[in-house]
Amino acid sequence: MSVQDILISPYGGALVNLMADDAEREGLVRRVKGLPSIQLSPRAMCDLELMAVGALSPLRGFMGQADYRSVLETMRLAGGTLYPIPVTLPVSSLDGIQEGKGVAIRHAKNNLIAVMDVEEIFEADPREEARLVCGTDDDEHPLVAEMKAWGKYRLCGPLHVVQLLLHPDFPELRRTPVQVRSRLAEMGNPNVVAFQTRNPMHRAHEELTKRAADEARATLLIHPVVGMTKPGDVDHYTRVRTYKTLVENYYDGGKTVLSLLPLAMRMAGPRECVWHAIIRRNYGANHLVVGRDHAGPGKDSRGHSFYGPYEARELLTRHQEEVGVHALAYDEMVYLPEEDRYEEATRVPAGTRTLSLSGTEVREKYLAPGIDLPRWFTRAETAAILANAYPPLHKHGFCIWFTGLPSAGKSTIAEILTVLLMEHGRQVSLLDGDVVRTHLSKGLGFSREDRDTNILRIGYVASEIAHHGGAVICAAVSPYRATRNQVRSIMRPGHFIETFVDTPVAVCEQRDVKGFYAKARAGEIRDFTGVNDPYEPPVNPEIRLETGDVTAEENARLIVRYLESRGFLLNEKAYRDGPPEQAAVGDAGGAS
Ligand code: ADP
Repeated sequence: MSVQDILISPYGGALVNLMADDAEREGLVRRVKGLPSIQLSPRAMCDLELMAVGALSPLRGFMGQADYRSVLETMRLAGGTLYPIPVTLPVSSLDGIQEGKGVAIRHAKNNLIAVMDVEEIFEADPREEARLVCGTDDDEHPLVAEMKAWGKYRLCGPLHVVQLLLHPDFPELRRTPVQVRSRLAEMGNPNVVAFQTRNPMHRAHEELTKRAADEARATLLIHPVVGMTKPGDVDHYTRVRTYKTLVENYYDGGKTVLSLLPLAMRMAGPRECVWHAIIRRNYGANHLVVGRDHAGPGKDSRGHSFYGPYEARELLTRHQEEVGVHALAYDEMVYLPEEDRYEEATRVPAGTRTLSLSGTEVREKYLAPGIDLPRWFTRAETAAILANAYPPLHKHGFCIWFTGLPSAGKSTIAEILTVLLMEHGRQVSLLDGDVVRTHLSKGLGFSREDRDTNILRIGYVASEIAHHGGAVICAAVSPYRATRNQVRSIMRPGHFIETFVDTPVAVCEQRDVKGFYAKARAGEIRDFTGVNDPYEPPVNPEIRLETGDVTAEENARLIVRYLESRGFLLNEKAYRDGPPEQAAVGDAGGAS
């Protein structure tokens, strides 16, 4: 008897393994030379990765039409096994793909992942699939919105997996079902509680998981999703850093396993909850923690929750004997400040003071203004990781994009602004049009095409700087509205600050710092903006400056005040006094 036999058996009896062995792999690599190829979407890549190592057992490949229809209509595979979620391979065109032939399955970067012997090609209707699986065809549902762009054909047939995608991040935590089972079995307890999450774990989750493991007298498998979750979720790099420190510092290492699951969530609420249970069974768990609104995507376009708060746990409870994984149902945990402990909200006597924070409060009341999250809410290590990943606005990058005629005053104001921002403690890059043309855009001329190329290069570099927390100031004529808007579109929304230096051409011409206006008038320079080349002023710039009666320094200070009002700079008083006092934390506690 293998040590793993102490755990619940995989769903369907045995773990599927689709990985080709060395000899088979050589044959496959030779065989693909003559085959048509498809590229996997990130979702299909996750599905294939899980299937290859048995996490979706008993599935041996993407579903064919009989299984697909049966899953949609009855939540069962054609053979009768309970299976709530369709797992199919959509493609938009068939270019040489035929039943009875092979197809090479590649990752988006073209490396070969697998070969499928195509047995069946069928067409599917995403609207029907959405209604039956997600219970809705509302586009606010992230999967429903995504499905509408899937190809209409679905491919099915035996899969031979050559290699899986390499994940260089957190390799020590990426374990297959066999590896997780062997870890769990070593711990010697046949009972295993799995915890599914797509969010950072705070004290409430810690209490919940510890309570669940105690009540089931079980080993705890913390099994966060790192494939695809709901768009807008905290990225998995940040989340996994919180899980690691939490498990290392606050859990019993002899009874806890942390492992990452490259699952592409469907956000399909009740059906997804049953799927999560089946998947966790394959990893050796016989209990699953199910909180409120498990795998729910929030509100639909009319403001109603897609699923009832207890629908998921009810569906799993109804099928738990068949799935072999019991639902451990918990209500939302709240903090009782008087007793310094957590309790399920439904068990708290009426009138008791409780504290909790919603995700929105965490972002808006704490992370955005740079206030430390309270210790009752989250561990210090988690607070520090989140504060670092979600810096307050005054640590965000931004781009001041000057536009205006030659000699309008862009460079002059930009240089003063650079100094003022440095005085505020910001890292600043100045990309001046004239300077950029001596290296990054060397050789480009002044045709419409070359001007656009120049601006887009500056915009690309500026967006990289701004994305990574730098303040970047760009000072180039940038005469075309559409091109400026193109640059705006690659910046983080709200972080591109178009600043129109609105100096009339007559004034610019009078200044004529470099003598170009005179040369243009004399016909010595062609294509000179303002004289014989167009300038399209911004329609709605964030900032408009006049340079007739306002000095360059005054204009630079106007921009500083604008940045303070937007939160990108601490205002001068706050700057002297340092960041907001932490004493404010208690008041913002969000009593519920
Ligand atoms: P651009 O970068 O827009 O081509 P420059 O900053 O190189 O323009 O040139 C503007 C010229 O106008 C400079 O010589 C500057 O000293 C002068 N100037 C006069 N008044 C102002 C003002 N209020 N703001 C900016 N520049 C001014």
